[in-house]
Amino acid sequence: MDELKNLRQKHLASSLKLSYKDPLHIVRGHKQYLFDAEGQDYLDVVNNVCHVGHCHPKVVEAASRQMGILNTNTRYLHEGILEYSARLTSLLPHPLKVCFFVCSGTEANELALRMARIHTGKVGAVVLDGAYHGNSSSVINLSPYKFNGPGGKGLRPWVRVASMPDCYRGQYRGTGAEVAPLYAAHVREAIEALESEPTWFGDQPPGAAAFFHESLLSCGGQIPLPEGYLEEAYEAVRAQGAICVADEVQVGFGRVGSHFWGFETQGVVPDIVTMGKPIGNGHPLGAVVTTPEIAKSFSNGMEYFNTFGGNPVSCAVGLAVLDVIKDEGLQEHALSVGNYMRDKLISLMDKHPAVGDVRGLGLFIGIEIVSNHAGREPHCGVAEYIVERMKDNRILLSTDGPDRNVIKIKPPLVFNHSDADHVVETMDRVLAEDYVTRICK
Ligand code: PMP
Repeated sequence: MDELKNLRQKHLASSLKLSYKDPLHIVRGHKQYLFDAEGQDYLDVVNNVCHVGHCHPKVVEAASRQMGILNTNTRYLHEGILEYSARLTSLLPHPLKVCFFVCSGTEANELALRMARIHTGKVGAVVLDGAYHGNSSSVINLSPYKFNGPGGKGLRPWVRVASMPDCYRGQYRGTGAEVAPLYAAHVREAIEALESEPTWFGDQPPGAAAFFHESLLSCGGQIPLPEGYLEEAYEAVRAQGAICVADEVQVGFGRVGSHFWGFETQGVVPDIVTMGKPIGNGHPLGAVVTTPEIAKSFSNGMEYFNTFGGNPVSCAVGLAVLDVIKDEGLQEHALSVGNYMRDKLISLMDKHPAVGDVRGLGLFIGIEIVSNHAGREPHCGVAEYIVERMKDNRILLSTDGPDRNVIKIKPPLVFNHSDADHVVETMDRVLAEDYVTRICK
């Protein structure tokens, strides 16, 4: 282990972080389990990338079969990309019919931003506080999670940040529907502020190209949006001629259980949907799906070429993932296990003052850790302690949210009812440990 750490220090940058105080040396994955070099198993409750299970045999088989036949780019006719585009768009509402394939969530949002700018002729963007949309030079500027964090360069003049619609800790608190218009008004104000901006950004006119949002907030702290929020926000955005981009990189592909896409839970249809992480079950695949109208604006003469995006292997993988989600009923499974687990976690709130809130949809759940139950005081130290102690019990979790006090639950969808029992029973014991009870009242 020390040798690996030393080599890492020597050849990798220190900005590349490891999880846990004593990092794990993971060498194998299977279903909802990861295995370390000693063969010890860990229940993976946080990896929403290996969506249908680590190393799912059908996905592995599809990738290796296609890898042995052909892997090239999109400049040749090939059935794979056509079949995949048809399947993917059949899962989306009208008029989201045109696909672009990329290699990551960052690339998907980067492309969505370019498309929005070309389509509207404007450059500005509104994002939600606490959001993360990727690591490139452009989309880092759409990510308050990063630009307002350590090493960040702060807000760019072409970006406006609307407050996070967090009904537990945010500016407006409540059960949902009644606070949605209050939060949506912040999006309206942000869009209008960009529109009325007197300065020019470089050679571009002022104004808003797009509203970027996740359909449930992930880095923001595992927050489902209040009922009716996106409907009102979209209306405000479209009233100014800007477009709505739903980032489904974390929450898409059936995770929320009741629907295939997170935005569907809000009854809206975005202009662009960006996808990543679960789409390839670990294979570097991403996608942007948009309307024919926006795709037409983007076809302005400049070729769009992505060397790896949409290659036959990636498309075979993407198709296999869709097949497995359907054949194994994973969306319905996420609903059933997710509801079961959320109810069990909610019952911990009465017993343990540290558990301030439990929220989520399907297998996308957040547990808010607080030192003061009534005052909702976030406590990142206790959240971290719980994550470390769960790891000692061979259960992998992590934290997020602006205060890093929200424990994230977003396992591969094969996670089952007895896994949920095991996680909740273990957490029940950890929450009763002295370190937690001394701090959390
Ligand atoms: N959007 C969201 C919501 C994300 O959570 C992430 C990654 N955490 C990204 C985009 C960027 O995806 P990638 O790391 O694949 O570039």
